Amino acid sequence: MTETNYPFVDIHTHFNGKRGAEQISIQNIFIQDFEQNSFEIPFSVGWHPWDYNKVEKVNWNEFLKSIENESDLLAIGESGLDKAIEVSLDFQKEIFLKHIELSEELKKPLIIHCVRAYSEILEIRKSSKAQMPWIIHGFNANIQIAKQCIQKGIIPSFGAFLFNEKTKAFRTIRELKGELFFLETDDQEKYEIKDIYNQVAQIHRIELEELKENIYITFKRLFDLS
Ligand SMILES: [Zn+2]
Repeated sequence: MTETNYPFVDIHTHFNGKRGAEQISIQNIFIQDFEQNSFEIPFSVGWHPWDYNKVEKVNWNEFLKSIENESDLLAIGESGLDKAIEVSLDFQKEIFLKHIELSEELKKPLIIHCVRAYSEILEIRKSSKAQMPWIIHGFNANIQIAKQCIQKGIIPSFGAFLFNEKTKAFRTIRELKGELFFLETDDQEKYEIKDIYNQVAQIHRIELEELKENIYITFKRLFDLS
């Protein structure tokens, strides 16, 4: 029997965050649900594009103050760009840029929701000169885009799409053996993070433990944890 050395890392989940020897999960909190000091779990917080019409204006200075001392805050987001919703792209970009500022100011990685806006995200990465790692969660684009992203410090994160061979995500992950990527459960109740890991280990024909080690090392490095 092999012993477990590294925890699973679920980089983005809408369910309970975890911090332990077996699993670390970053729970996504929507900005409208955020209450100071109410969490004792690793979390990220941000304004989701789907809520851009629902939430009233945010006072960004107050928001920054409310989160800057949260020791469990591991990342900013999810926020991002979504071309499938009826909110103007200019407005979406304005909100997204606020999240980039927070991420840079607090030195926390940024978790990104991206639907049909990969080229815009890449452009903004360049124009904003952001230094912190970005993570495009639910990544579902081709290998060229994935490689461009990784080169610029934007790490793709994969989840349930990996169980559908017809998705771009499935084809892309096959080519990403040994590259930087994360895995996630997002809002899926059907899969646990270990199922996603097992799927990738199988696709890459590597041992589960090797995959766990690779992702954990990436996680520690990019999230500056020691
Ligand atoms: Zn999500």
